[in-house]
Amino acid sequence: MAPSFLQAIAVSKTYPGTQASGIKKTDLTISQGKITAIIGESGSGKSTLLKMLFGLLSPDAGEVKFKGERIWGPAEKLIPGHDAMKMVTQQTDDLNLFAKVWDNIYSLLPHTDLKADQEKTSKMLGQLKMTGITDKRVADLSGGEKQRVAIARALITSPEILLLDEPFNQVDTSFREGLQHDIRQIVKDTGLTVIIVSHDPAEVLSMADELLVLKEGEILESGGPKELYQNPKHLYTARLLTNCTVLTNEEAKVCGLKTKAAHVVIYPEWIETVKTWTNNDWEIKQILFKGCYEDLLLEHKGITIRVLNDQFGKYAEGNKVNLKLNKWLEY
Ligand code: ADP
Ligand code: MG
Repeated sequence: MAPSFLQAIAVSKTYPGTQASGIKKTDLTISQGKITAIIGESGSGKSTLLKMLFGLLSPDAGEVKFKGERIWGPAEKLIPGHDAMKMVTQQTDDLNLFAKVWDNIYSLLPHTDLKADQEKTSKMLGQLKMTGITDKRVADLSGGEKQRVAIARALITSPEILLLDEPFNQVDTSFREGLQHDIRQIVKDTGLTVIIVSHDPAEVLSMADELLVLKEGEILESGGPKELYQNPKHLYTARLLTNCTVLTNEEAKVCGLKTKAAHVVIYPEWIETVKTWTNNDWEIKQILFKGCYEDLLLEHKGITIRVLNDQFGKYAEGNKVNLKLNKWLEY
């Protein structure tokens, strides 16, 4: 059997002086040519795991293997990080601010064949939609454009794996979507493997082929984005992926749901607001404008429920409505 592309085998890492931090005995396999996202709340160990996959941090126990060979840690290697991988984080400090975009990328090539290097640089700039800013100084770019330069720098030497640590945090939505699309296209065209870590569903849901959910240093569950979003096995996952309402068993009863489960989870899009002759018990306390939809915060007997509404102007704060629940999850 061929060895896995990239594999962590029972890796753990505890930081000195802390008990419940780092990564606990974790196994994972990354598929080649796919985008794998590791999602978890802040402090769940995402960056620690990513650094161990890259070889920037040595595990206390266990090992990471790339194509069957153990990845060396920083103590064993002159330049930390595996040669077939590149990492991009939110910090874009290794950019040369006073050089042009072109030079920031071109300068990383070996210059044995100048024409080939120029072609490669042009192609990279095209793939990342940067032809319009080629001659700008990096210092004059927006945050999103700088992030594109950082990614171009990472990809210009054709690594097999691109590691991204919350790379789009500082990037606005439209910019982020463009960049995500371009990275997906590069993955399709070149077979690049991407591993992205994030706490933000917007960063990963539309981008990832496979999601791994990390909680307190352990992988809780994994699956495709749609599957995990629609049917998370754990309450933690639902909370990470959407702005859902979590009700206790008692609160669920108030909403007309009889269940033995300790918690009931309702996503904003699973509830309809309706006007009925009676039982319009829920008061619209707040309407939060979200651009192409609004979130209604409804309250009844001290319980607050979030509902997605795309019919603008249908309600005003203070209106009373009835609810129709179309789906819920029990934990
Ligand atoms: P995430 O990237 O998911 O936010 P990290 O991997 O950065 O999480 O950190 C996981 C846990 O380990 C956190 O509790 C963090 O405080 C702790 N930690 C991270 N780096 C260090 C370090 N160098 N020294 C001590 N504790 C650390
Ligand atoms: Mg982190």
